[in-house]
Amino acid sequence: MRRRFESERLVIATHNAGKAREISALLQPYVAQFFTAGDLDLAEPEETEDTFIGNAELKALAAARVSGMPALADDSGLAVNALGGDPGIYSARWAEKEDGSRDFSYAMGRVKEAMGDIPDRSGAFICALTLAWPDGHVESFEGRVNGTLEFPPRGDHGFGYDPIFVPDGYDVTFAEMEPSVKHDMSHRADAFRQMVAAIFNAE
Ligand code: IMP
Repeated sequence: MRRRFESERLVIATHNAGKAREISALLQPYVAQFFTAGDLDLAEPEETEDTFIGNAELKALAAARVSGMPALADDSGLAVNALGGDPGIYSARWAEKEDGSRDFSYAMGRVKEAMGDIPDRSGAFICALTLAWPDGHVESFEGRVNGTLEFPPRGDHGFGYDPIFVPDGYDVTFAEMEPSVKHDMSHRADAFRQMVAAIFNAE
């Protein structure tokens, strides 16, 4: 049985202000008061699990236990079938250079090189979302959008791996689309729709 969200308050377990704004806008109709990990000075736990849902659960549970409030966390990335699902949960880490900076042109180059001539160019963006309660209960959802990896990168919108990802049914990359079109069809939108239907909106 799904547990419904019945609280007035919700912690968004991220230190990324842009992500927190986007999530609070989506959940505005259902939540009276939002807090972010930054507001509460919550530590960022190490992402030690080997699945998207595992890492989202670990982050949401840590924030719920410390704050005493329900907490929401996500984990996302690009999974390439020819690479056995890599970069996957390591999507951000594939962009890290020796000096510690992040460079997604470099990360996209690594994906191209790793794929080589392998004919299967399919992949997916995946987003896991977990709502955790202070008593340890969790509700998790996984959204995805399937597509094809194309090189060289194209487009200036978006972020991360958007310039090499062409979603099924389109011939432009995520970075060539109007941001609102991407946001409506993205892995994050899919996960949020599932979560809102199951635990925020459900009768
Ligand atoms: P996190 O879930 O915020 O840790 O994001 C993991 C990484 O996955 C990001 O740094 C991006 O590289 C990649 N990623 C997640 N979602 C997207 C997306 O919508 N477009 C492009 N890259 C993404």
